[in-house]
Amino acid sequence: MSASESHHITILGAGVVGLTTSLVLANTYPAARITIVAKHFPGDRSIEYTSPWAGANWASMAHDNGPLEKYDEVTFHRFGELIDGKVVHGCKAIKKGEGNELGLGRQGMWAVFDAPIEETGILTEETGKVWYDSLVGGLRELSKEELPKDAVFGLDFPSTFRINTQVYLQWLQSQALAKGITLIRRHYPSVSKLLGDFPSTTLLINCTGLGSLHLSDILDKNLYPTRGQTLLVAEPKTPINRMYLRSPKRIDPTTTYVFPRPLGGGVILGGSRQDNDWSAEWDEELGKDIMKRCCELCPELGRVEDLQIIAKNVGLRPSRIGGPRIETEKGKWDVPVVHCYGHAGAGYQSSWGTAERVLELVQKTFGSSLKL
Ligand code: FAD
Repeated sequence: MSASESHHITILGAGVVGLTTSLVLANTYPAARITIVAKHFPGDRSIEYTSPWAGANWASMAHDNGPLEKYDEVTFHRFGELIDGKVVHGCKAIKKGEGNELGLGRQGMWAVFDAPIEETGILTEETGKVWYDSLVGGLRELSKEELPKDAVFGLDFPSTFRINTQVYLQWLQSQALAKGITLIRRHYPSVSKLLGDFPSTTLLINCTGLGSLHLSDILDKNLYPTRGQTLLVAEPKTPINRMYLRSPKRIDPTTTYVFPRPLGGGVILGGSRQDNDWSAEWDEELGKDIMKRCCELCPELGRVEDLQIIAKNVGLRPSRIGGPRIETEKGKWDVPVVHCYGHAGAGYQSSWGTAERVLELVQKTFGSSLKL
């Protein structure tokens, strides 16, 4: 057995972060054994599993002039490459007519703000610029006529991404299976207990999202939930040819958004951000307010009374003080553990970037002992 064959990488967590990370590692280390262990997998709908509840789109919230912008930038490129039929970490999507099997599509977006640009949190402090301006094809400022009533300014994103999360998660899982990755469904109270059951593990990747708040040998108190409520509604007769977002600031409890999903995915209406709120219960008043705000923002939806509600969704974003934890922890357990959790409201749009960062950390930890 070669050095790489003797490696057993165990990944805890099968959300968008765990699955994407598994693909990057499997492609780089084809001879390593890889197992994903998780309580929830694609297809499950639980308040403990964030990924199915995301909107989702690519609209970066990063403005750190550093790693967060980098994660989103890398993911933007990987999404585009996948849509264009290119091979990304050994994965390739089948094109279907105008679309693809990924559940991922390009679309423009109007982002409208109710405060001057300096107060919205979209500018990178060091540069005073929107870092993704050219990435999205050159932002255009909306004219006064295009802006809704009382809005201060708006930006037209010529091209970004929207995601049918149900389809995309299944696609990630099918890619993992095609790469020979083993899936095991189990809940663990601690990393130690997991390692006890998988003694051949030589490297553990922790992609548990909010779960790291409860794992007894992690108990990351910097994690907290940010509750989000959305509605899935039927596609209106008038096609919605762009995404809409309106907010006082880029990150705000009252951000309103309308994301038409590809592949018959309906339209997602959002939203809300309620920090430290664990409730899985649907808030009826908030739901009505979301529908009202969305119909005002997106005329194609028509009147609130005309909306066909398909599902009422509640999800908990894995927010974390200080941002996502992506680092190697050595010495606490018998094997190194690479943490990759706490992606807050950006787990899709940063997924390939953080997975590639995990790969860098694994390469640093193992050097040449984990051969390519
Ligand atoms: P999860 O999806 O929660 O997966 C965690 C995994 O770990 C699961 O498999 C779980 O079973 C497993 N696990 C945890 N603990 C244990 C344990 N002890 N034992 C075994 N298994 C365990 N992001 C975007 O990029 N764009 C958007 O537009 C967007 N919109 C959003 C809108 C809403 C309303 C919400 C709620 C989120 C949104 N997000 C968006 C954020 C995104 O959904 C999350 O960042 C992402 O899903 C986090 O993925 P994850 O894999 O880290 O966590």
